[in-house]
Amino acid sequence: MGLFDKHLAYRDAYKAIQDVGANPFKVRFDAVHSPTEGVVDGRPTILLGTNNYLGLTFDEQAIAASVKAVQERGTGTTGSRIANGSFESHVELEQELAKFYGRKHAMVFTTGYQANLGVLSTLVGRGDHLILDADSHASIYDGSRLGHAEVIRFRHNDPEDLAKRLRRLGDAPGERLIVVEGIYSMIGDVAPLKEIAAVKREMGGYLLVDEAHSMGVLGATGRGLAEAAGVEEDVDFIVGTFSKSLGAIGGFCVSDHDDFDVMRVICRPYMFTASLPPAVAASTVTALRRMIEQPELRDRLNRNAKRLYDGLTAMGFLTGPSASPIVAATMPDQERAIAMWNGLLQAGVYLNLALPPATPDSRPLLRASVSAAHTDEQIDAVLKTYGEIGAALGVIEPLKRARA
Ligand code: PMP
Repeated sequence: MGLFDKHLAYRDAYKAIQDVGANPFKVRFDAVHSPTEGVVDGRPTILLGTNNYLGLTFDEQAIAASVKAVQERGTGTTGSRIANGSFESHVELEQELAKFYGRKHAMVFTTGYQANLGVLSTLVGRGDHLILDADSHASIYDGSRLGHAEVIRFRHNDPEDLAKRLRRLGDAPGERLIVVEGIYSMIGDVAPLKEIAAVKREMGGYLLVDEAHSMGVLGATGRGLAEAAGVEEDVDFIVGTFSKSLGAIGGFCVSDHDDFDVMRVICRPYMFTASLPPAVAASTVTALRRMIEQPELRDRLNRNAKRLYDGLTAMGFLTGPSASPIVAATMPDQERAIAMWNGLLQAGVYLNLALPPATPDSRPLLRASVSAAHTDEQIDAVLKTYGEIGAALGVIEPLKRARA
Protein backbone atom coordinates (compact mmCIF):
# COMPACT_ATOMS: atom_id res chain seq x y z
CA MET A 1 0.00 0.00 0.00
CA GLY A 2 1.29 3.44 -0.88
CA LEU A 3 0.39 6.71 0.79
CA PHE A 4 -1.64 7.85 -2.17
CA ASP A 5 -3.49 4.59 -2.84
CA LYS A 6 -6.51 5.77 -0.94
CA HIS A 7 -6.81 8.68 -3.38
CA LEU A 8 -6.64 6.66 -6.59
CA ALA A 9 -10.30 7.20 -7.47
CA TYR A 10 -9.75 10.96 -7.32
CA ARG A 11 -6.58 10.67 -9.42
CA ASP A 12 -8.42 8.81 -12.18
CA ALA A 13 -11.38 11.21 -12.17
CA TYR A 14 -8.97 14.15 -12.24
CA LYS A 15 -7.14 12.69 -15.22
CA ALA A 16 -10.40 12.08 -17.12
CA ILE A 17 -11.31 15.75 -16.68
CA GLN A 18 -7.93 16.91 -18.00
CA ASP A 19 -8.21 14.66 -21.06
CA VAL A 20 -11.22 16.66 -22.30
CA GLY A 21 -9.51 20.05 -22.57
CA ALA A 22 -8.09 22.68 -20.25
CA ASN A 23 -7.58 21.66 -16.64
CA PRO A 24 -10.27 23.49 -14.65
CA PHE A 25 -8.23 23.18 -11.47
CA LYS A 26 -5.11 24.70 -13.01
CA VAL A 27 -6.36 27.70 -14.92
CA ARG A 28 -3.58 30.26 -15.21
CA PHE A 29 -4.35 33.93 -15.65
CA ASP A 30 -1.55 35.28 -17.86
CA ALA A 31 -2.73 38.80 -17.10
CA VAL A 32 -5.51 40.50 -15.16
CA HIS A 33 -6.26 43.96 -16.55
CA SER A 34 -9.31 44.90 -14.50
CA PRO A 35 -11.89 43.21 -12.23
CA THR A 36 -13.61 41.85 -15.33
CA GLU A 37 -10.92 41.39 -17.99
CA GLY A 38 -7.91 39.15 -18.19
CA VAL A 39 -5.89 36.93 -20.47
CA VAL A 40 -6.14 33.15 -20.19
CA ASP A 41 -4.05 30.91 -22.44
CA GLY A 42 -3.22 33.95 -24.56
CA ARG A 43 -6.93 34.79 -25.10
CA PRO A 44 -8.67 37.98 -23.93
CA THR A 45 -11.22 36.71 -21.42
CA ILE A 46 -14.22 38.10 -19.55
CA LEU A 47 -13.78 37.22 -15.87
CA LEU A 48 -17.10 35.90 -14.55
CA GLY A 49 -16.01 33.64 -11.73
CA THR A 50 -13.86 35.66 -9.34
CA ASN A 51 -16.11 36.65 -6.37
CA ASN A 52 -15.00 40.23 -7.02
CA TYR A 53 -18.49 41.48 -6.25
CA LEU A 54 -17.78 45.18 -6.02
CA GLY A 55 -14.79 45.28 -8.39
CA LEU A 56 -12.61 46.79 -5.65
CA THR A 57 -9.41 44.87 -6.57
CA PHE A 58 -8.49 47.79 -8.83
CA ASP A 59 -9.76 50.62 -6.62
CA GLU A 60 -7.13 53.34 -6.97
CA GLN A 61 -7.28 54.40 -3.33
CA ALA A 62 -6.97 50.83 -2.08
CA ILE A 63 -3.99 50.26 -4.37
CA ALA A 64 -2.33 53.50 -3.20
CA ALA A 65 -2.84 52.51 0.48
CA SER A 66 -1.35 49.11 -0.23
CA VAL A 67 1.71 50.54 -2.03
CA LYS A 68 2.32 53.07 0.75
CA ALA A 69 2.08 50.34 3.40
CA VAL A 70 4.49 48.01 1.65
CA GLN A 71 6.99 50.83 1.21
CA GLU A 72 6.70 52.04 4.80
CA ARG A 73 6.29 48.75 6.67
CA GLY A 74 7.74 46.07 4.39
CA THR A 75 6.33 43.01 2.68
CA GLY A 76 5.24 40.96 5.68
CA THR A 77 4.79 40.98 9.45
CA THR A 78 6.75 37.73 9.85
CA GLY A 79 4.80 36.79 12.92
CA SER A 80 1.60 36.04 14.75
CA ARG A 81 -0.91 38.60 16.03
CA ILE A 82 0.00 37.66 19.60
CA ALA A 83 3.74 38.19 19.08
CA ASN A 84 5.23 40.62 16.55
CA GLY A 85 2.39 40.55 13.99
CA SER A 86 0.04 43.29 15.21
CA PHE A 87 0.72 46.54 13.36
CA GLU A 88 -1.23 49.75 13.57
CA SER A 89 -3.17 48.76 10.41
CA HIS A 90 -4.42 45.47 11.91
CA VAL A 91 -5.76 47.29 14.93
CA GLU A 92 -7.29 50.02 12.75
CA LEU A 93 -8.95 47.35 10.59
CA GLU A 94 -10.50 45.74 13.67
CA GLN A 95 -11.74 49.10 14.93
CA GLU A 96 -13.26 49.96 11.55
CA LEU A 97 -14.98 46.57 11.27
CA ALA A 98 -16.43 46.86 14.79
CA LYS A 99 -17.68 50.36 13.94
CA PHE A 100 -19.16 49.23 10.59
CA TYR A 101 -21.10 46.39 12.20
CA GLY A 102 -21.98 48.40 15.32
CA ARG A 103 -20.41 45.75 17.57
CA LYS A 104 -18.07 45.98 20.53
CA HIS A 105 -15.45 43.55 19.27
CA ALA A 106 -13.76 42.51 16.03
CA MET A 107 -10.98 40.02 15.44
CA VAL A 108 -9.06 39.78 12.17
CA PHE A 109 -7.70 36.47 10.92
CA THR A 110 -5.34 35.71 8.04
CA THR A 111 -8.09 34.12 5.93
CA GLY A 112 -11.84 33.61 6.17
CA TYR A 113 -11.17 29.89 6.27
CA GLN A 114 -9.09 30.37 9.40
CA ALA A 115 -11.73 32.64 10.93
CA ASN A 116 -14.23 29.78 10.73
CA LEU A 117 -11.70 27.23 11.96
CA GLY A 118 -10.80 29.46 14.89
CA VAL A 119 -14.18 30.74 15.94
CA LEU A 120 -16.08 27.46 15.66
CA SER A 121 -13.43 25.41 17.43
CA THR A 122 -13.15 27.94 20.25
CA LEU A 123 -16.78 28.94 20.91
CA VAL A 124 -18.00 25.40 21.40
CA GLY A 125 -16.14 22.48 22.92
CA ARG A 126 -16.65 19.08 24.46
CA GLY A 127 -20.21 18.68 25.74
CA ASP A 128 -21.54 21.53 23.54
CA HIS A 129 -23.65 21.23 20.38
CA LEU A 130 -22.78 22.74 17.02
CA ILE A 131 -25.82 22.87 14.76
CA LEU A 132 -24.89 23.35 11.11
CA ASP A 133 -26.82 23.83 7.90
CA ALA A 134 -26.06 20.67 5.89
CA ASP A 135 -24.73 22.70 2.92
CA SER A 136 -22.17 24.56 5.02
CA HIS A 137 -18.87 25.62 3.50
CA ALA A 138 -15.82 23.39 3.97
CA SER A 139 -14.29 25.85 6.43
CA ILE A 140 -17.31 25.45 8.71
CA TYR A 141 -17.11 21.67 8.56
CA ASP A 142 -13.36 21.76 9.15
CA GLY A 143 -13.84 24.13 12.09
CA SER A 144 -16.35 21.70 13.54
CA ARG A 145 -13.73 18.93 13.35
CA LEU A 146 -11.05 21.04 14.96
CA GLY A 147 -13.22 21.51 18.03
CA HIS A 148 -14.81 18.81 20.12
CA ALA A 149 -18.47 19.76 20.11
CA GLU A 150 -21.16 17.33 19.00
CA VAL A 151 -22.04 18.20 15.39
CA ILE A 152 -25.68 18.12 14.35
CA ARG A 153 -26.71 18.93 10.77
CA PHE A 154 -30.11 20.27 9.80
CA ARG A 155 -31.63 20.23 6.31
CA HIS A 156 -30.39 23.06 4.11
CA ASN A 157 -32.32 26.31 4.62
CA ASP A 158 -35.00 24.51 6.63
CA PRO A 159 -35.89 26.34 9.88
CA GLU A 160 -38.43 23.65 10.81
CA ASP A 161 -35.80 20.96 10.65
CA LEU A 162 -33.54 23.17 12.76
CA ALA A 163 -36.32 23.50 15.35
CA LYS A 164 -36.83 19.73 15.28
CA ARG A 165 -33.14 19.06 15.96
CA LEU A 166 -33.09 21.55 18.81
CA ARG A 167 -36.26 20.07 20.27
CA ARG A 168 -34.68 16.63 20.11
CA LEU A 169 -31.78 17.94 22.19
CA GLY A 170 -34.29 18.86 24.87
CA ASP A 171 -32.61 20.05 28.01
CA ALA A 172 -29.38 18.12 27.41
CA PRO A 173 -26.48 19.95 29.03
CA GLY A 174 -24.08 22.04 26.92
CA GLU A 175 -24.28 25.20 24.84
CA ARG A 176 -25.88 25.32 21.39
CA LEU A 177 -24.33 27.25 18.49
CA ILE A 178 -26.33 27.49 15.26
CA VAL A 179 -24.29 28.25 12.12
CA VAL A 180 -25.65 29.42 8.78
CA GLU A 181 -24.39 31.39 5.79
CA GLY A 182 -25.85 34.57 4.30
CA ILE A 183 -25.62 33.64 0.63
CA TYR A 184 -24.58 30.05 -0.10
CA SER A 185 -21.50 29.91 -2.29
CA MET A 186 -22.51 27.32 -4.87
CA ILE A 187 -25.95 28.31 -6.17
CA GLY A 188 -26.34 31.69 -4.53
CA ASP A 189 -29.40 30.87 -2.45
CA VAL A 190 -30.10 32.97 0.62
CA ALA A 191 -30.73 31.65 4.15
CA PRO A 192 -34.25 32.21 5.60
CA LEU A 193 -32.60 34.15 8.40
CA LYS A 194 -35.74 35.77 9.83
CA GLU A 195 -37.21 32.33 10.46
CA ILE A 196 -33.93 30.88 11.70
CA ALA A 197 -33.56 33.79 14.13
CA ALA A 198 -37.11 33.16 15.35
CA VAL A 199 -36.23 29.50 16.05
CA LYS A 200 -33.16 30.62 17.97
CA ARG A 201 -35.20 33.11 19.99
CA GLU A 202 -37.77 30.47 20.85
CA MET A 203 -35.44 27.58 21.58
CA GLY A 204 -32.31 29.31 22.87
CA GLY A 205 -28.69 29.07 21.84
CA TYR A 206 -26.33 31.33 19.93
CA LEU A 207 -26.43 32.20 16.23
CA LEU A 208 -23.41 32.69 13.96
CA VAL A 209 -23.81 33.89 10.37
CA ASP A 210 -21.03 33.55 7.82
CA GLU A 211 -21.54 36.57 5.56
CA ALA A 212 -18.60 35.73 3.25
CA HIS A 213 -20.70 36.14 0.09
CA SER A 214 -23.24 38.63 1.43
CA MET A 215 -21.04 41.36 2.93
CA GLY A 216 -21.16 44.34 0.57
CA VAL A 217 -23.92 42.58 -1.36
CA LEU A 218 -26.99 42.58 0.92
CA GLY A 219 -28.40 45.06 3.43
CA ALA A 220 -29.03 48.79 3.22
CA THR A 221 -25.41 49.54 4.13
CA GLY A 222 -23.82 46.29 2.95
CA ARG A 223 -23.57 44.58 6.34
CA GLY A 224 -25.08 41.47 4.81
CA LEU A 225 -28.11 39.23 5.27
CA ALA A 226 -28.55 39.91 8.99
CA GLU A 227 -29.01 43.58 8.13
CA ALA A 228 -31.23 42.85 5.11
CA ALA A 229 -33.46 40.51 7.17
CA GLY A 230 -33.62 42.96 10.09
CA VAL A 231 -32.34 40.43 12.63
CA GLU A 232 -28.92 41.79 13.58
CA GLU A 233 -29.89 41.75 17.25
CA ASP A 234 -30.46 38.00 17.11
CA VAL A 235 -27.09 37.29 15.51
CA ASP A 236 -24.39 36.80 18.13
CA PHE A 237 -21.41 36.37 15.81
CA ILE A 238 -20.76 37.45 12.24
CA VAL A 239 -17.89 35.89 10.32
CA GLY A 240 -16.71 37.30 7.02
CA THR A 241 -13.88 37.51 4.55
CA PHE A 242 -11.86 40.20 2.80
CA SER A 243 -11.35 37.93 -0.22
CA LYS A 244 -14.59 38.74 -2.00
CA SER A 245 -16.31 42.16 -1.83
CA LEU A 246 -13.22 43.81 -0.32
CA GLY A 247 -10.90 42.43 -3.00
CA ALA A 248 -8.02 41.28 -0.76
CA ILE A 249 -7.48 38.37 1.61
CA GLY A 250 -8.24 37.84 5.29
CA GLY A 251 -11.14 37.02 7.55
CA PHE A 252 -12.88 38.42 10.59
CA CYS A 253 -15.41 37.85 13.32
CA VAL A 254 -17.43 40.56 15.08
CA SER A 255 -19.52 40.25 18.23
CA ASP A 256 -20.94 42.09 21.21
CA HIS A 257 -20.12 39.27 23.57
CA ASP A 258 -18.31 40.71 26.63
CA ASP A 259 -15.72 37.92 26.83
CA PHE A 260 -14.99 37.83 23.10
CA ASP A 261 -11.44 39.15 23.46
CA VAL A 262 -10.30 36.10 25.41
CA MET A 263 -10.26 34.29 22.06
CA ARG A 264 -7.00 36.10 21.28
CA VAL A 265 -5.15 33.84 23.70
CA ILE A 266 -6.98 30.54 23.12
CA CYS A 267 -7.98 30.48 19.46
CA ARG A 268 -5.26 28.49 17.74
CA PRO A 269 -5.90 29.47 14.09
CA TYR A 270 -5.52 33.09 15.26
CA MET A 271 -2.48 32.54 17.44
CA PHE A 272 -0.32 30.10 15.53
CA THR A 273 -0.08 31.65 12.10
CA ALA A 274 1.42 34.85 10.74
CA SER A 275 -0.81 37.90 10.45
CA LEU A 276 -1.86 39.68 7.26
CA PRO A 277 0.87 41.57 5.40
CA PRO A 278 0.65 45.32 6.15
CA ALA A 279 -0.25 46.06 2.50
CA VAL A 280 -3.31 43.80 2.77
CA ALA A 281 -4.47 45.28 6.08
CA ALA A 282 -4.08 48.79 4.62
CA SER A 283 -5.87 48.04 1.33
CA THR A 284 -8.70 46.34 3.24
CA VAL A 285 -9.28 49.31 5.54
CA THR A 286 -9.48 51.49 2.43
CA ALA A 287 -11.70 49.04 0.52
CA LEU A 288 -14.09 48.92 3.49
CA ARG A 289 -14.32 52.73 3.43
CA ARG A 290 -14.78 52.72 -0.37
CA MET A 291 -17.54 50.14 -0.03
CA ILE A 292 -19.33 52.25 2.59
CA GLU A 293 -19.07 55.48 0.60
CA GLN A 294 -20.24 53.92 -2.69
CA PRO A 295 -23.61 52.22 -2.07
CA GLU A 296 -24.21 52.57 -5.81
CA LEU A 297 -21.76 49.68 -6.34
CA ARG A 298 -24.25 47.38 -4.60
CA ASP A 299 -27.10 48.63 -6.78
CA ARG A 300 -25.05 48.08 -9.92
CA LEU A 301 -24.04 44.59 -8.72
CA ASN A 302 -27.61 43.57 -8.06
CA ARG A 303 -28.73 44.94 -11.45
CA ASN A 304 -25.98 42.96 -13.19
CA ALA A 305 -26.87 39.82 -11.25
CA LYS A 306 -30.49 40.10 -12.32
CA ARG A 307 -29.51 40.67 -15.97
CA LEU A 308 -27.44 37.48 -16.03
CA TYR A 309 -29.92 35.42 -13.98
CA ASP A 310 -32.93 36.49 -16.06
CA GLY A 311 -31.05 35.92 -19.32
CA LEU A 312 -29.94 32.40 -18.38
CA THR A 313 -33.34 31.46 -16.97
CA ALA A 314 -35.10 32.72 -20.11
CA MET A 315 -32.85 30.50 -22.25
CA GLY A 316 -33.85 27.48 -20.19
CA PHE A 317 -30.81 26.98 -18.00
CA LEU A 318 -31.57 25.74 -14.52
CA THR A 319 -30.38 28.39 -12.11
CA GLY A 320 -30.63 28.96 -8.36
CA PRO A 321 -33.96 29.93 -6.76
CA SER A 322 -33.50 33.70 -7.13
CA ALA A 323 -31.16 36.29 -8.59
CA SER A 324 -28.04 36.80 -6.51
CA PRO A 325 -24.49 37.67 -7.56
CA ILE A 326 -23.77 33.95 -7.63
CA VAL A 327 -25.54 32.64 -10.71
CA ALA A 328 -25.28 28.90 -11.16
CA ALA A 329 -26.46 26.77 -14.05
CA THR A 330 -26.93 23.08 -13.34
CA MET A 331 -25.60 20.80 -16.09
CA PRO A 332 -27.27 17.51 -17.05
CA ASP A 333 -24.13 15.43 -16.53
CA GLN A 334 -20.43 15.76 -15.82
CA GLU A 335 -19.39 15.20 -19.44
CA ARG A 336 -21.44 18.08 -20.74
CA ALA A 337 -20.54 20.27 -17.77
CA ILE A 338 -16.86 19.88 -18.61
CA ALA A 339 -17.46 20.39 -22.35
CA MET A 340 -19.54 23.50 -21.65
CA TRP A 341 -16.90 24.92 -19.33
CA ASN A 342 -14.18 24.32 -21.94
CA GLY A 343 -16.34 25.81 -24.71
CA LEU A 344 -16.95 28.97 -22.70
CA LEU A 345 -13.27 29.33 -21.85
CA GLN A 346 -12.26 28.94 -25.48
CA ALA A 347 -14.83 31.58 -26.39
CA GLY A 348 -13.28 33.97 -23.85
CA VAL A 349 -15.54 33.53 -20.81
CA TYR A 350 -14.07 32.33 -17.52
CA LEU A 351 -16.35 30.99 -14.79
CA ASN A 352 -16.12 28.18 -12.23
CA LEU A 353 -16.78 24.52 -12.87
CA ALA A 354 -18.14 22.84 -9.75
CA LEU A 355 -18.34 19.08 -9.60
CA PRO A 356 -19.88 16.72 -7.02
CA PRO A 357 -19.27 16.24 -4.13
CA ALA A 358 -18.69 20.01 -3.93
CA THR A 359 -22.18 20.80 -5.27
CA PRO A 360 -25.37 20.84 -3.21
CA ASP A 361 -27.51 18.31 -5.08
CA SER A 362 -24.76 16.08 -6.47
CA ARG A 363 -25.15 17.52 -9.94
CA PRO A 364 -22.38 19.41 -11.76
CA LEU A 365 -22.83 23.09 -12.29
CA LEU A 366 -21.26 26.14 -13.84
CA ARG A 367 -20.95 28.89 -11.30
CA ALA A 368 -20.73 32.53 -12.33
CA SER A 369 -20.10 35.38 -9.91
CA VAL A 370 -21.14 38.79 -11.13
CA SER A 371 -19.32 42.04 -10.37
CA ALA A 372 -20.51 45.62 -10.11
CA ALA A 373 -17.73 46.28 -12.61
CA HIS A 374 -19.30 44.20 -15.40
CA THR A 375 -20.84 46.24 -18.18
CA ASP A 376 -24.19 45.44 -19.79
CA GLU A 377 -22.26 44.65 -22.98
CA GLN A 378 -20.11 42.07 -21.19
CA ILE A 379 -23.13 40.36 -19.65
CA ASP A 380 -24.95 40.32 -22.98
CA ALA A 381 -21.85 38.88 -24.68
CA VAL A 382 -21.69 36.15 -22.02
CA LEU A 383 -25.38 35.33 -22.48
CA LYS A 384 -24.95 35.04 -26.24
CA THR A 385 -21.95 32.72 -25.89
CA TYR A 386 -23.67 30.68 -23.17
CA GLY A 387 -26.73 30.18 -25.37
CA GLU A 388 -24.76 29.22 -28.47
CA ILE A 389 -22.54 26.70 -26.71
CA GLY A 390 -25.40 25.35 -24.62
CA ALA A 391 -27.45 24.71 -27.75
CA ALA A 392 -24.51 23.15 -29.63
CA LEU A 393 -23.82 20.76 -26.77
CA GLY A 394 -27.47 19.92 -26.24
CA VAL A 395 -27.37 21.27 -22.70
CA ILE A 396 -30.41 23.55 -22.91
CA GLU A 397 -32.97 21.17 -24.37
CA PRO A 398 -32.46 18.30 -21.87
CA LEU A 399 -32.63 20.79 -19.02
CA LYS A 400 -35.89 22.20 -20.36
CA ARG A 401 -37.30 18.68 -20.50
CA ALA A 402 -36.07 17.91 -16.98
CA ARG A 403 -37.84 21.01 -15.72
CA ALA A 404 -41.13 20.40 -17.58
N1 PMP B 1 -16.96 30.97 4.19
C1 PMP B 1 -17.60 30.82 3.01
C2 PMP B 1 -19.08 30.64 3.01
C3 PMP B 1 -16.87 30.81 1.82
O1 PMP B 1 -17.50 30.63 0.65
C4 PMP B 1 -15.47 30.99 1.87
C5 PMP B 1 -14.61 31.03 0.62
N2 PMP B 1 -15.11 30.55 -0.52
C6 PMP B 1 -14.86 31.14 3.10
C7 PMP B 1 -15.63 31.13 4.24
C8 PMP B 1 -13.37 31.27 3.23
O2 PMP B 1 -12.95 32.53 2.83
P1 PMP B 1 -11.43 32.85 2.51
O3 PMP B 1 -11.30 32.87 1.03
O4 PMP B 1 -11.24 34.20 3.09
O5 PMP B 1 -10.57 31.84 3.16
